[in-house]
Amino acid sequence: MVSRVIPVDSFDLVIFGATGDLAARKVLPGLYRRFYSGQMPADARIIGAARADLDAAGFRDFAARAIRDHVGPAKQDKAQIAAFLEALDYVALDATGTQGWEELAPKLRAGVVRAFYFSVAPALFGDIAERLHQHGIATADSRIVVEKPFGRDLETAKALNATLATHFAESQIYRIDHYLGKETVQNLMAVRFANILFEPLWNSQYVDHVQITVAETVGVGGRGSYYDKSGAMRDMVQNHLMQLLCLIAMEPPYHFDPDAVRDEKLKVIRALQPVPQADIVRGQYLGTRGRGKDSVSSYLEDVENPDSRTESYIALKVHVANWRWQGTPFYLRTGKRLRARTSEIAITFKQPPHSIFDDAADTWQENVLVIRLQPNEGMNLKVMIKEPGPGGMRLVQVPLDMSFAEALGEEGTDIPDAYERLIMDVIRGNQTLFMRGDEVEAAWAWADPIIRGWEERIEKPQAYDTGSSGPDDALMLMHRDGRRWRSIHD
Ligand code: NAP
Repeated sequence: MVSRVIPVDSFDLVIFGATGDLAARKVLPGLYRRFYSGQMPADARIIGAARADLDAAGFRDFAARAIRDHVGPAKQDKAQIAAFLEALDYVALDATGTQGWEELAPKLRAGVVRAFYFSVAPALFGDIAERLHQHGIATADSRIVVEKPFGRDLETAKALNATLATHFAESQIYRIDHYLGKETVQNLMAVRFANILFEPLWNSQYVDHVQITVAETVGVGGRGSYYDKSGAMRDMVQNHLMQLLCLIAMEPPYHFDPDAVRDEKLKVIRALQPVPQADIVRGQYLGTRGRGKDSVSSYLEDVENPDSRTESYIALKVHVANWRWQGTPFYLRTGKRLRARTSEIAITFKQPPHSIFDDAADTWQENVLVIRLQPNEGMNLKVMIKEPGPGGMRLVQVPLDMSFAEALGEEGTDIPDAYERLIMDVIRGNQTLFMRGDEVEAAWAWADPIIRGWEERIEKPQAYDTGSSGPDDALMLMHRDGRRWRSIHD
């Protein structure tokens, strides 16, 4: 299958925070890959901005290192890298001061798309937005890209939205949730709305329950002090898992159009019921100190806070209170230092109303549609068939397994990183895969009372072993409903 690459219009992209971790790991390598694929026009320009005292040559060196370290060997092409670096420029600039802004303005061209990537701490968003206007740099159709975390509760998210709204219209603001840029997540919409097969069954009459799992093997690493103020609910559930839930639960939008899609997602968030504390399990990983050379530290050691009550794991049962989903629970879980790095959505269907097979009660298993986000993006539908061979009609469950890498050949193994896709969407002016301000606020309005609930109870999360599937109570969360989590494996 030949990939269709449609070049985007020419653009000037300013990256604020261009010398930071996100720029080095995701933004610059992503832009290079789009350049390599022919999607980024040759005259497009990328202007780095940060306080570091670099010139254009110094920033090109930084970008060359980022490409060397974060782009796979297949795209390490000297001539292409050199051509890409030609597009780079740099301004030493202080977001909170006056230095650099006068220099930035004349670097931007008229008549091309103008985008500003705020790859800096959210505390700087207001300063940057204000100065972009003060210096006449932002035009009426300029776009700004902002990163998570988008607030830490409803109040701060509202304040951030208000700050941005002072200078930019909602149609100019691109709030990134990189989960929405993942190919399989978009495929979820294709599977649901481009096939007749699933949608008639996509409701509480036929779906027993849904499981969403985002499991990581890593701990909090160097992000300890940031993470300890956040926790899995704020860092993962309120945004990433929420977006996945929305795409599964939403009604078909009338068109694949930014506001049509986001209106439907918003309705799902507004239909979420409050979650009682009894339906929530929070955990903190234990370390393996003293168990050989590969031993690892515990959460409490990682965050250097022995009294921390922040969760590195959370599992919760969520209900979407609307006509379609009444009675079908959504079980969400995410955590660090778990058995495997895996993200998936599993839709478990109900039993057929009547069985014509005598021994079906012993062998029957539910149909499950699994959408794998990582590793090995793909889909898997578990169906019952006859066990081959003579000796009566015995049933067995088999997977109809589709790995995108296998099904799509070369193209399937070359799935663009979420950031590549999303940055190109910014240039195209397509907001479908970005969160709207009201969506973010609605998600916090749902999450806030849940978080307050455990904060008021001053409850400590349950300890769980590194390399396990999470705390024991999480198993009970499903057991008591007569259900089981899917195993966490590679
Ligand atoms: P980082 O490594 O700390 O980089 C911050 C960048 O901001 C640096 O380039 C820094 O350069 C610049 N900066 C700081 N103060 C400045 C100022 N006053 N004026 C101009 N530039 C300034 O942070 P990061 O990890 O790249 O994260 C950037 C944003 O993305 C944050 O909002 C973060 O939450 C979000 N994010 C990051 C990741 C990730 O994987 N890293 C993932 C999701 C979201 P100078 O010090 O030279 O000015």
